[in-house]
Amino acid sequence: MPELPEVETTASMLNKLVKGKQILDVWTDYNSSYYKGKNNIKNPEFFKKFKKEVLNKKIICVWRRAKNVLIDIEGEKTILIHMKMTGHLLYGTYKPVGKRSDLKNLKRSVLEETDLQWIPIEPETLKDPFSRFIHLVFELSDSKHIAFSDMRKFATVTLISDKEALSKHFEKIGPEPLEKEFDWRALRARLVLRPNGKIKTVLMDHFVLAGIGNIYSDEILWASKIHPERKASSLSDAEIKEILKWIKKLLSKGIDFGGDSMSDYRNPLGEKGDFQNHHNAYKRTGKPCLRKGCKGKIIRKIVNQRSAHFCNTCQKLYS
Ligand SMILES: [Zn+2]
Repeated sequence: MPELPEVETTASMLNKLVKGKQILDVWTDYNSSYYKGKNNIKNPEFFKKFKKEVLNKKIICVWRRAKNVLIDIEGEKTILIHMKMTGHLLYGTYKPVGKRSDLKNLKRSVLEETDLQWIPIEPETLKDPFSRFIHLVFELSDSKHIAFSDMRKFATVTLISDKEALSKHFEKIGPEPLEKEFDWRALRARLVLRPNGKIKTVLMDHFVLAGIGNIYSDEILWASKIHPERKASSLSDAEIKEILKWIKKLLSKGIDFGGDSMSDYRNPLGEKGDFQNHHNAYKRTGKPCLRKGCKGKIIRKIVNQRSAHFCNTCQKLYS
């Protein structure tokens, strides 16, 4: 699942690419009875309202809060996209064609929405097999498209007010770890909220902290030499300072590398990030620990239903 660095990469790139462009049309083939009555475009009734609200609006900016991409449009509304497991937002030129071979050459205007599929024309990198599950398309005034590939169709796409985007909607999400004001004391104050939680689980808890998931929590704890099952309340101030230092360093490094594409994350141009080539712990099960002087190896253990990867020697479980 995309974490803070991947969502940040998507939002900041998209901002540069689409800021100031107008949304001329919007298409989707999401349609799920499970979402009946819900404010999600997977509910066709909601999509009708959504379409009305976004049509002909200019994109003011694209930004990120926690793991949400926020597209602020003219007026009082903001489009919220949570990419969830397999979603990624793409930008380029697409062409609509019929899904079945007997419909291939028909014009879009005579096809049912669900008979359409969107084929990437350029850039070439959009032709990546992980980016071909297009379920939502915004047609823009520059004749290009924002296309949303979502293989497992778990994403959330909705509309919120600008006010909510700035505050209320996010009141249950913890602070942004990369903000300057977020120091070790602020982290300590958040950890207190889950005193009995295991530190890996607590770092991934969005009520405690925004944006950290499985990959970065493993890497942060390896770098801090902290066992993933340490109780949050057992950590000393020195250890909290160390964790905070690596939260900042590794999330920034993730952004510098354009995110992590070990799974199917791609940036808006369909390109891979590079953080997966710099892992010390995540998915290195059975491999030697890369810490200088450590003769341990990386092991995998399930911690609250999530895989934790850590060194069996330099990340000791005290307490
Ligand atoms: Zn080690």
